[in-house]
Amino acid sequence: MRAVVTGAAGFIGSHLSQHLLDKGDEVLGIDSLTDYYDPRRKERNIAHLRNRPGFVECRLDLATAPLEMLFEKADVVYHLAGQPGVRASWGEEFAPYLSRNILATQRVLEAARNTKVYKVVYASSSSVYGDAETYPTTEDLTPRPVSPYGVTKLAAEHLCELYRTTSGVPTVSLRLFTVYGPRQRPDMAFTRLVEAALSGDPFLLYGDGQQSRDFTYVWDVVTAMRQAALSPWVGVANIGGGSRTTMNEVVEKVQALAGPIHLVRLPSQRGDVRHTAADTTTARKGFGYHPRTTLDAGLANMVDAARLGWEQAHEATAAAEAGA
Ligand code: NAD
Repeated sequence: MRAVVTGAAGFIGSHLSQHLLDKGDEVLGIDSLTDYYDPRRKERNIAHLRNRPGFVECRLDLATAPLEMLFEKADVVYHLAGQPGVRASWGEEFAPYLSRNILATQRVLEAARNTKVYKVVYASSSSVYGDAETYPTTEDLTPRPVSPYGVTKLAAEHLCELYRTTSGVPTVSLRLFTVYGPRQRPDMAFTRLVEAALSGDPFLLYGDGQQSRDFTYVWDVVTAMRQAALSPWVGVANIGGGSRTTMNEVVEKVQALAGPIHLVRLPSQRGDVRHTAADTTTARKGFGYHPRTTLDAGLANMVDAARLGWEQAHEATAAAEAGA
């Protein structure tokens, strides 16, 4: 398989690229190394991929660069590049969300339309649901995002569906539920929690801690992406970890693994949803999705990786994932 991975230097994109290379696929990894968080983290992610046979790096902005030639020989395009972050999407900072989530996706789909790509797999988000009316949530529920970020992810998902139904682009949109694991983005709760436990710095907990999430381990996510790409299935599917845990419970688990955490409780933030929980029947029936990593095992991996230096953690994670 020849794959294009957009956002290859990011958290999930670097794990996906690694997984595809482990499976013997060739990967063209596209990333512009945006400054949403420290680009040195992304540099390190991509540096490890550069050493691997079958990986080619391409540094460009999907919102402006010509893409068709890059997709010409691809069997699958995994489109993960985007501007994440719910809280930062309010106010003056909205422009990158438009460009990196909506415009970039439209340009990816337009380029895919003119090539023989077998599948476009888009990293959508549970944020499209907002405060869902029912849990676990099924894909047929009307999405009602409660943040500008969620609105842009939904708009991009609609573009995927539009190009699929009108222009013959075979798209799969996977609604990812809070992804975690080694190399998780530094603005996300688990990274901040583990770092707080190991450094003694305070952890800012927004809300009463009773908000719950369906946390999904990154190996399960990248496995699902490849399974979806290889199957004939198209459409929209939830990808969740299979259990719902409150933030207070997560804090207790991390404390048990890594030591006491100095909690600073703050009011919940605009755009934070109360609960998420995925019904994953569609993904299971469509392409055999089955999450394998429990929250306890996944958190232990994250803590182990954080205790090692970055280089060692990367080697250990790569070896464990290759053997999984
Ligand atoms: P990330 O920020 O670590 O990775 C995104 C990458 O995309 C970055 O390396 C960035 O430099 C790159 N990028 C952004 N705009 C680009 C552009 N125009 N051209 C080229 N490269 C560009 O984020 P992540 O957590 O790995 O998330 C990956 C995708 O999954 C995102 O689309 C995100 O919305 C989606 N998602 C993530 C989660 C999660 O829990 N992490 C949950 C749901 C959905």
